Amino acid sequence: MMEDYFEIDWNNILNELNKRNIKSILIELPEGLKQFIPEIDAKLSGYRTYYSGENIYGSCDTNYSISVDGVLHFGHAPMRNLQYFKNTIFVELKRKININKKLVENILSLNCKRIGILATVQYISMIENLSKELKKFGIETITSEGDDRLYYPSQVLGCDFSAAEKIKEDVDCFIVLADGTFHASGIFMATDKPTYSAEPVSGKIIRIENDQFLRSRYLAMEKAREAKNIGILVSTKLGQYRIAIANMLKNKIIESGRKAFIIVLNEISPQKLINLNMDAYVNTACPRIALDDTSLYEKPILTPTEMEMVLGIIPYDNYVLDRINFVNDIRKDL
Ligand code: SF4
Repeated sequence: MMEDYFEIDWNNILNELNKRNIKSILIELPEGLKQFIPEIDAKLSGYRTYYSGENIYGSCDTNYSISVDGVLHFGHAPMRNLQYFKNTIFVELKRKININKKLVENILSLNCKRIGILATVQYISMIENLSKELKKFGIETITSEGDDRLYYPSQVLGCDFSAAEKIKEDVDCFIVLADGTFHASGIFMATDKPTYSAEPVSGKIIRIENDQFLRSRYLAMEKAREAKNIGILVSTKLGQYRIAIANMLKNKIIESGRKAFIIVLNEISPQKLINLNMDAYVNTACPRIALDDTSLYEKPILTPTEMEMVLGIIPYDNYVLDRINFVNDIRKDL
């Protein structure tokens, strides 16, 4: 049952649907939640329901693709800078979890006195109680508001570390409450501060290192340096659409004596690039595609900042992580 794991207020959801006179709904679920479709459908009996079979990676990725009265988007908080279809309702699904004693012990053993604390939306409500617990031991936790892509203070996305960047001078280290190291790696790269991924369920803490990551990124940049034809990938996903960056890069690549072509897609996948047959790609969509999925691609795939490093626009030996902070480059046509 979903309710065993997540806070979910079905009365509130049904009231919201009724208030907005929504009768037909497109339901968007991240991969891990698609197993709950029968359960969700039972709660929504009386409505005309359609389930998106697409991969839904974040609230950057809501897709009002069929004619319905409303969209129920599960698992993410809205991005404040995006204009969603007006009847999009976000169901965030915060995890039901108590503060794990082992987690507190592991944090205390780090010897950080001033901790910048961040979380993915599933664990955001843990921050207050964890901070109170750590305060008993003389540890100060520091939170901060990020940019308009973030809905909550101290929230982190895989493409937005702005809440951490604002307080990096004030903290000894960062703790990131999340499943896995995906978000903490970004915080480490963006702030250069000791950063620990803290897994709230198990209480496990992992220190983030970036040596291997940087080696693989510089290898990709070296391969792309030799490219003659470069594909610049632009995604039409609402919160990943960075056409201005693509246009800027196209001009700069052409000025460097190479050829550049802007390729517009919705989902970016290795299969979609096979027939394009470019020598290298720059991905302006979700930054994690180039950073985490690089081994799936046959040709080098760079982030926009990496391409700027190859072109000498930003210094080559001072790696800059791609992020979608403070973006104004959003779709205005929806
Ligand atoms: S762009 Fe990528 S990292 Fe950012 S919210 Fe979307 S899926 Fe997550």
